[in-house]
Amino acid sequence: TSPSLHDRHQAVMPAWMRCYYGNPLELVSGSGRRVTGGDGERYLDFFGGLLATMVGHDIPEITEALQRQAGRIFHSSTLYLIRSQVELAEKIAARAPVDDPKVFFVNSGSEAVEAAFLLTTTAQRSNQVIALRGSYHGRSFGTVAATGIRGWSATGLSPLQVTYAHSGYKYRSPFGHLPDAEFTAACRDELETMIETSTSGEIACYIAEPVQGAGGFANPPDDFFREMKTVLDRYDVPFISDEVQSGWGRTGRSYFGIEHYGVRPQALTFAKGLANGLAIGGVVAEAGLMDCVSANSISTAGGNPIATSTANAVIDYIESHELQANADAVGRQLRRGLEAIAAGCPLIGEVRGAGLMLGVELVEPGTRTAAPAAADTVLAEARAAGLLIGKGGLSGNVLRITPPMTVTADEAREALVILGEVLSTVSN
Ligand code: PMP
Repeated sequence: TSPSLHDRHQAVMPAWMRCYYGNPLELVSGSGRRVTGGDGERYLDFFGGLLATMVGHDIPEITEALQRQAGRIFHSSTLYLIRSQVELAEKIAARAPVDDPKVFFVNSGSEAVEAAFLLTTTAQRSNQVIALRGSYHGRSFGTVAATGIRGWSATGLSPLQVTYAHSGYKYRSPFGHLPDAEFTAACRDELETMIETSTSGEIACYIAEPVQGAGGFANPPDDFFREMKTVLDRYDVPFISDEVQSGWGRTGRSYFGIEHYGVRPQALTFAKGLANGLAIGGVVAEAGLMDCVSANSISTAGGNPIATSTANAVIDYIESHELQANADAVGRQLRRGLEAIAAGCPLIGEVRGAGLMLGVELVEPGTRTAAPAAADTVLAEARAAGLLIGKGGLSGNVLRITPPMTVTADEAREALVILGEVLSTVSN
């Protein structure tokens, strides 16, 4: 008998690249929010390829834009003018909550955060970064150092010196018992002390995800980032909003997660869903920050014609179909449904998130002890019932529910029925 695809995967790919499920799944085709597996089964896709399938599978307008460009020219490089790249930069600059914005394109979220670190470390002449506990910023040398989840972090050999501040993840914070205003004040005071006591006196940047993604969709209290920004402004520390997961309206706000907090960062990073899953990333920064480095044209394929033509079509699609409003409405519907399930399910510790970034934290009933095995069972049972969801969290115990922004109310109802049945079976 010939080896299975999973056997071949394990033979040549790293041991740490783990597939979901004991019986791993290949997705071979998709349409809208439905995908077909190599097992011939059809599934409702409520994870969207790690939040990158932004508007759904096989959307004709998007496929046509990609094919049109592929038939003209694949690649020219950043040494030449690329019309679709300039158009995309104009669109993003007009929408990002950054003053005097300039845009630089790369190919992934990790590269985008690296680019933001390059800008801020150069501008501030410092390698000291403040990141948040529970953060995820990528798998490259600098971004992994800034990642505040045990098991993902670097070995301490990074050129960056990173310190981790408490995040807005109240459910698992030592300040979590405090009312929101006092919680935020405690985090603000801690940040101020960290800056005051930093060894060089100069901090390159403060980096935060408006809604922590891999960390389990923790969204801080409403005034959290406004208070942090007051401190950062007082000490002239640039704020980088990492919008790799929360960008393009998934949280139900017009374009970026940080807009929920009324804060204008000095830089923001984006990737994942902008080209509906095709490799793209970038950074938007204030012109003074962007232009502080002197190297020229430093990403061969960054902003390439195919990725940027596709991304232009994605933004047009989001706007012409009012998908941010849809993310907000269906996100509220899903959240209400999940809260109703939680009321009768002791396995659920907390339901949280924003828009279509919803997290369900699973715990041992009656405690706050993480229940990662239960999360694995829920994922497997949901798959058996025809629903794909994700997981995350500091212990892998948070269900992540992130359908494409085109998801309908009927599909949300269908997913809630499956989740309600699965969660009640698993908790009994
Ligand atoms: N930042 C955040 C907030 C992310 O969620 C991710 C990816 N999960 C990254 C950066 C890194 O992006 P990529 O995997 O495209 O390198």
